[in-house]
Amino acid sequence: MNRIYRRDFIKGVMGVVGVSFFGGLSFAEVMSEGDYRIVIDGEDFSIGHRVRGGEQFPVPKPSKKCDFVIIGGGVSGLTAAYELRDANFLLIEKEKKVGGHARRNSWEDIYYSEGAAYFAEPVGEIEDFYGEVGLHLKEVPKPVDSIFAGEKLVLDIWDEGLKRLPYGDKAIKGFMKFKNDLENLDPFPALPVEKTDPQALKLDGISFAQYLKPYGTELVEFMNLYCRSALGGPVDQVSAYWGLNFYSGEIIPIYTLPGGTATLAEILDKKINQAGEGRIITGATVVNIESKGEKEVWVTYVKDGNVETVSTKCAIVAIFKHFAKRIVKGLPSEQSAAMWNMRYQPYLVVNILLNGVPYRKSYDTWMNGASFTDFIIADWIEGNTQRSKSVLTVYHSLDIGKRYLLLEDEQIKILVHGIANDLEMLVPGISKNIEEVRAFKWGHPMVLSSVGALTKIRPYATKPLGNILFAHSDSQMAAAVECAIWEGKKNAGIARKIVASG
Ligand SMILES: Cc1cc2nc3c(=O)[nH]c(=O)nc-3n(C[C@H](O)[C@H](O)[C@H](O)COP(=O)(O)OP(=O)(O)OC[C@H]3O[C@@H](n4cnc5c(N)ncnc54)[C@H](O)[C@@H]3O)c2cc1C
Repeated sequence: MNRIYRRDFIKGVMGVVGVSFFGGLSFAEVMSEGDYRIVIDGEDFSIGHRVRGGEQFPVPKPSKKCDFVIIGGGVSGLTAAYELRDANFLLIEKEKKVGGHARRNSWEDIYYSEGAAYFAEPVGEIEDFYGEVGLHLKEVPKPVDSIFAGEKLVLDIWDEGLKRLPYGDKAIKGFMKFKNDLENLDPFPALPVEKTDPQALKLDGISFAQYLKPYGTELVEFMNLYCRSALGGPVDQVSAYWGLNFYSGEIIPIYTLPGGTATLAEILDKKINQAGEGRIITGATVVNIESKGEKEVWVTYVKDGNVETVSTKCAIVAIFKHFAKRIVKGLPSEQSAAMWNMRYQPYLVVNILLNGVPYRKSYDTWMNGASFTDFIIADWIEGNTQRSKSVLTVYHSLDIGKRYLLLEDEQIKILVHGIANDLEMLVPGISKNIEEVRAFKWGHPMVLSSVGALTKIRPYATKPLGNILFAHSDSQMAAAVECAIWEGKKNAGIARKIVASG
């Protein structure tokens, strides 16, 4: 049997400078009580929160016309724009730069991610797409995944480390059996969902925790870390479908580039602009999308305090449904209800800028019992151990009920100090190496791949509304770069047909 893996496509503090996050300014600097500076950055939801607060923006008559309007410039919107690069389109993005979660920054020549970190093994259409756009991924060298539990660090947990896990024999056998069963899973819960065997959809009806129970509580605990990091919530809330699909990609090689997945967004941006400049507007938040008859859609946005409307034959909504549900007018009640049932996990991505290289043992280290789930060594693939500086990218998801912690810089400071303290368990004295901390806050970034999402929510939430299409990665009910590419490509194809049919 051909083994089918995850995302296998066709084959199978003090003084706070600035305004609070929700007040609008997306940058603040906080002096820490420790010796290091904490810099806080985040998405700009200033206009979005005015919409949420019930403000009605005017809808002026259109000042522009184009065949396609793409709302959102994350990987899904950029992929749609790339596919339509020969056409008359406009892409509208609220941030100052495109990329969405695929964004990076640098310090001392070290690129680090402020969002997404790595790619699954590319196969089928995804592999072809990377080839076409010229994205050359690097395989992440071993040890890839390690775990710190019970005061013991075990490197390379799915290979060399499997027999040395810090658990009893029974639990280790559970890990081994799980790996073996995952390699032979049939039918496989595929990505994209459209290509899956209908039998595999049964896995959507049970939680990953329930599925994992026979393998032992230690594996459930470990997968709880993974699900909170990658699937939007704890293991008992995530479906077995997405848990199995995602995890199958972790036991085979994964790939990345300096700064995570951002290079893909940068390449797409460049190629779109090479095909024709001036079609991407940044710093513009879309506040209203409504059909005007059967062949026209009006998309209204706010940029620099001005409100403008563009008329289009087809709108591709590549923003998360948490906000789409508020701005797309005329949604049928069942579609609106389905979107309201989607949940999004808040996230703090914390980059710790270090003097020296106090820890460089594994690409991704999972921390049992810490406030965060895992952290990555930013320049791991570069293999440069001679540097005098290093960066750790810490993934600190928050429970959905704790989103309010991101509202206050003081709270973020507390979370950052918690991270530093927890890292001390693994690397005693590491706090002394910290030169600066850069925290990036995401309010509602990661869709929860909830139990029943594919069968009970997706069919309603993602339905095209006339000439308005929904292309965000959350249309797969899972947060992965491959979901974004698939949705962008698929919807660009549908949009072309709509416009061609007049
Ligand atoms: C912390 C974190 C880590 C992750 N790690 C990984 C990983 O390692 N590997 C992986 O494959 N995936 C990862 N993901 C999943 C990630 O969501 C996808 O990889 C992908 O980047 C999503 O792309 P997208 O275009 O669907 O959505 P987004 O990135 O959400 O893009 C949507 C865009 O729409 C814009 N927008 C929103 N509202 C409006 C509006 N009203 N008007 C105009 N523009 C608007 C946003 O600013 C954004 O640019 C991670 C996600 C997070 C949050």
